[in-house]
Amino acid sequence: FNTSSYGQHILKNPGIADAIVQKAFIKETDTVLEVGPGTGNISIRILEKAKKLIAVEIDPRMAAEVTKRVQGKPEQRKLEVLLGDVIKMETLPEFDVLVSNTPYQISSPLVFKILQMPKPPRCCVLMFQREFALRLTAKPGDSLYCRLSVNSQFWAKITHILKVGKKNFSPPPLVESAVVRIEPKVGSDRPNVSFEEWDGMLRICFNRRNKTLRASWFTKEVLSMVERNYRIWCSLNNVAVDDSPIEEGEDDEVMDMDLQENVEPSAGDEPLDEEEGWGGIMDVDDADNDTTPSFFGNNNAPVPKTQSKRRKTRVALLVREKIRKVLEDDTKLADQRSGKLDETDFLKLLYAFNSENIHFS
Ligand code: SAM
Repeated sequence: FNTSSYGQHILKNPGIADAIVQKAFIKETDTVLEVGPGTGNISIRILEKAKKLIAVEIDPRMAAEVTKRVQGKPEQRKLEVLLGDVIKMETLPEFDVLVSNTPYQISSPLVFKILQMPKPPRCCVLMFQREFALRLTAKPGDSLYCRLSVNSQFWAKITHILKVGKKNFSPPPLVESAVVRIEPKVGSDRPNVSFEEWDGMLRICFNRRNKTLRASWFTKEVLSMVERNYRIWCSLNNVAVDDSPIEEGEDDEVMDMDLQENVEPSAGDEPLDEEEGWGGIMDVDDADNDTTPSFFGNNNAPVPKTQSKRRKTRVALLVREKIRKVLEDDTKLADQRSGKLDETDFLKLLYAFNSENIHFS
């Protein structure tokens, strides 16, 4: 039974367990979600304060431990243990506060999951690897600034609470840790932007973090993805797509974009094929199955999967021109690098793309 991939580092310093729970500002009416209760060192402290604790644990042996720990005690009826992988759970029960000594391998998916919740918790207090914690608050120009930094500061308020050394865990992890508080923005503080659109665009901007936006956008992969999305938009909005073939010599710019493909990824780049995927925007199957009636009778033919291998049509040129216009004329960000841009720049960019009917979800 191999549990080495579960990131099981039990917190053995009671002072830190106390601090984590105290900094979550739990009210006696709160339902708290704890990810990975382990043996229950943090859980028992939450149970002293909250109305209810829902603890999600992937390892049945740990789930049994924490259950046993409150057996026969008054707290027993406040504790609900859910066995499973928190990331794979489609619907989580509603909760007010999230607390976790986070298993390091789910740090990123967990944060993204919280940020995009329609009804996010009021407050999250989470232990992360220190470098991950620093990414959450990294600013434009910092070496750790990445897509995670932009998203977390756009959708939430982040506070660093505590540095935690390796020796506070058993077994000690390889790197230092830190506790942070994430308070998702709500009401009028919450940006009035679709998470999928925003993050879909950021994925492209950060695929070559240290290259110019021009380099990030003018790759074969991105161009064909944007073309696919544009076709879907046209189809949904009854706009005709010009599928006439491109004449010889009309496609010069393709040369530039093929050159870009030789750029080697460097530190901080986010590969487009990472496990989290494209958040739906590259869903070829969606495009294939899209039979929404369109302006032209035969235009609702599915977009062929082999699109990129087929001869390009005029719509490819149109899409490329739209991207060029957005980057060079509308926002003038073509020569900038994502690692130096702030959320105002990215908002400008999203607005300009959307104005050209280019969408990312
Ligand atoms: N809360 C305990 C503590 O602080 O001492 C244990 C923390 S330990 C770093 C992480 C815990 O998360 C382990 O109990 C592990 O089995 C559990 N875990 C790992 N991956 C998980 C997942 N995907 N969903 C839920 N629990 C997970």
